[in-house]
Amino acid sequence: MTLKVYRQKRNFNKTSEPKGKVVKDRSKAKKGKGKELSFFVQKHDASRLHYDFRLEMHGVLVSWAVPKGPSLDPADKRLAVHVEDHPLSYGGFEGSIPEGEYGAGEVIVWDHGKWKPLEDISPEKGLEEGRIKFELQGKKLKGAWSLVRMKTSDSQDAWLLIKDRDDFAISSKKYDILEKMPKSVISSKVIKSRKAKS
Ligand code: MN
Repeated sequence: MTLKVYRQKRNFNKTSEPKGKVVKDRSKAKKGKGKELSFFVQKHDASRLHYDFRLEMHGVLVSWAVPKGPSLDPADKRLAVHVEDHPLSYGGFEGSIPEGEYGAGEVIVWDHGKWKPLEDISPEKGLEEGRIKFELQGKKLKGAWSLVRMKTSDSQDAWLLIKDRDDFAISSKKYDILEKMPKSVISSKVIKSRKAKS
């Protein structure tokens, strides 16, 4: 695992995003049922508004860009494009990426907490096989979730983020968590109306 692609895309003289480092593999240090790793969801008002869904694995944040954001409705299968690994320290990043830089726009930490795998296979194996079942213990997102890789022929590494059926699932007709809980979990900031960008 490496942060090479992450670093190549960014100019750290211009952006306040962390340069970061690969930390000691906490998933290996925490064996068995006590294994709890960090997750983060950032709301990012880049050229297109999206949510970045990040799971701690092997010392980095394995990341997916979710254009429509997570849904608590198991019927909503949300596209999640697997993107480059980010440093663990990225999870706490909030701020404005300057115009002209990669991902220019506002970022807030929309949710964070712990996650744990719900299957016997390691998350790394799940990543390889295109199927990860996990539990989230966030401030907003809770319960069982799945990430499943789509079998597509195009070059995008497209997955689906799906809420599994449990007590935390709710119909999107009844409750839209993105609308009801828009604030940052660390600063209470919100991303205001979409900017028109060309
Ligand atoms: Mn992003």
